[in-house]
Amino acid sequence: MKILFYDTKSYDKDSFDAALASFSSMEIEYTKSDLEPRTAVLAEGFDAVCAFVNSDVGTQTLEILHQKGIRLILMRCAGFNNVDLETAKKYDMRVMRVPGYSPEAVAEHAMALALASNRRLHKAYNKVRENDFSLSGLMGFNFYQKTAGIIGTGKIGAAMCRICYGFGMKVIAYDVYENESLKKFVEYVPLDQLLSESDLISLHCPLMDSTYHIINIDTIKQMKDGVILVNTSRGALVKTDDLIEGIRMHKFAGVGLDVYEEETDNVFEDRSDEILKHSTTARLLSFPNVMITSHQGFFTREALQAIAETTLQNALDHETGKGSPNDVI
Ligand code: NAD
Repeated sequence: MKILFYDTKSYDKDSFDAALASFSSMEIEYTKSDLEPRTAVLAEGFDAVCAFVNSDVGTQTLEILHQKGIRLILMRCAGFNNVDLETAKKYDMRVMRVPGYSPEAVAEHAMALALASNRRLHKAYNKVRENDFSLSGLMGFNFYQKTAGIIGTGKIGAAMCRICYGFGMKVIAYDVYENESLKKFVEYVPLDQLLSESDLISLHCPLMDSTYHIINIDTIKQMKDGVILVNTSRGALVKTDDLIEGIRMHKFAGVGLDVYEEETDNVFEDRSDEILKHSTTARLLSFPNVMITSHQGFFTREALQAIAETTLQNALDHETGKGSPNDVI
């Protein structure tokens, strides 16, 4: 099977080339271009395309891929909110994903953001580098015996529950489906109660119509003053303008974001001062208690290896006509 691999970074090529040794029927051609309508035409002569979180796998792209004979979309990530599933279904295209390559990678990053924004590590690092050893502006609070509220307790949320429990926190959670195996140390509560009781709120639900802007000014107002909010899931779970309003109201002790609404708008690829100045993400960065990372939650050696192996196994299952739990459709 010939796979065209979009949006290639050097670390992708390294991990997929290593995994290819165990998949002799697979051939990969790598391109740095990301998948979008203009680049979909490159898929001529391939059997499958491999795309990522920010690829544009919308209606127009899928129509072109269909014309080029593509029957398989390999998403090398868990989320698939950027894929137009209706159109894929219409053209009988199979969409496969990597649902749980390393939940701990993302959960550990969520806790890193929570700790860093609580203890102002980003600020402390810069102060000490400038020879300022004073502690002003660096006070945080203990997580021990505080309440962690986890929204979405699938694979990553469950890992985050375990980490918070290990810190000696009381762990409460909200999910539309309750995970029985967590109930020994996690109490499921309604969303309102989670918002009003948590000292740390971490988002681990997928982006869907029902979760779009789940964090908005109304839900922010229900939160405790001095709460820490972490989002490693998808940017649009949080309404950024409302988050800025909440920060101005001094609602948050800290905010840690690995994902943000403008991620897909290429705001940071065109780094003109004018665009940066007006981006909401840049406005967020102007607050000292906000820490932002660039969608790196998944970025560990173990996760990259698992992504490569599962993606190639998905391709092999398609080639050999097998069903898979990794089918999106
Ligand atoms: P998962 O499917 O295992 O779990 C998602 C959970 O959210 C499920 O338990 C589901 O019932 C729950 N949920 C669905 N709708 C909900 C709602 N309205 N309210 C509350 N909970 C709801 O997914 P996962 O592997 O744990 O991944 C979670 C999300 O993390 C993904 O959707 C993706 O957006 C994000 N992610 C981010 C990175 C990163 O690098 N930052 C990497 C991988 C995944």
